[in-house]
Amino acid sequence: MNLSVIRCEVGFMPTNAYVVRDTESGDSLVVDPGFYDPALTEALQKLGINRLRYILLTHGHYDHILGVRQLKDRYGGDVVIYESEAAFLKDDSLSLVKPFCNGIPMIRAADRPVRDGDRLPFGDGEITVLHTPGHTSGSVCYLLGDLLLTGDTLFCESVGRADLPTGDDHALLRSVRRLAALGGDYKVLPGHMETSTLAYERANNPYLE
Ligand SMILES: [Zn+2]
Repeated sequence: MNLSVIRCEVGFMPTNAYVVRDTESGDSLVVDPGFYDPALTEALQKLGINRLRYILLTHGHYDHILGVRQLKDRYGGDVVIYESEAAFLKDDSLSLVKPFCNGIPMIRAADRPVRDGDRLPFGDGEITVLHTPGHTSGSVCYLLGDLLLTGDTLFCESVGRADLPTGDDHALLRSVRRLAALGGDYKVLPGHMETSTLAYERANNPYLE
């Protein structure tokens, strides 16, 4: 694999959506299209992507899923989310989408519900699913090459909030410590704010001590 990655800040939060293309196979994916934003379509164009293999969701909050329907309609791609977290796509009280979804077409079902340890083929490698509950009960991180896509579980020098529906602060701490215990180093690509590395987080993130 030879991965090209563009981070796009989408929507009003803003949220980090990531566009990833394996330049060898042409396999492409988007992580957490929180809004169908020009920044996202420009990144897809820049990487020469016409079709997506996957739309990976780290969890079901509105600011990570509101762009999924429009993205999938235009570019295709299997919608991947942790199996229990698929309930968020149907239940607006879990996704917290209500005040923000005015007229935006919503995705209501996943194509590929996944569990901890599942592997999805991508290029000549694979994407590994890590179930990391805490921010929500069905939050996951995805490992792909040297990328660790952490959603709202792990941020640069911080972690996600655990006070929203299905959140659990003890589970969140266990999850981020599980990430810290992964061997080697990874680029940490979180759902908000700046990117980091796992080595930097092990040394500087107070929640990983
Ligand atoms: Zn969230």
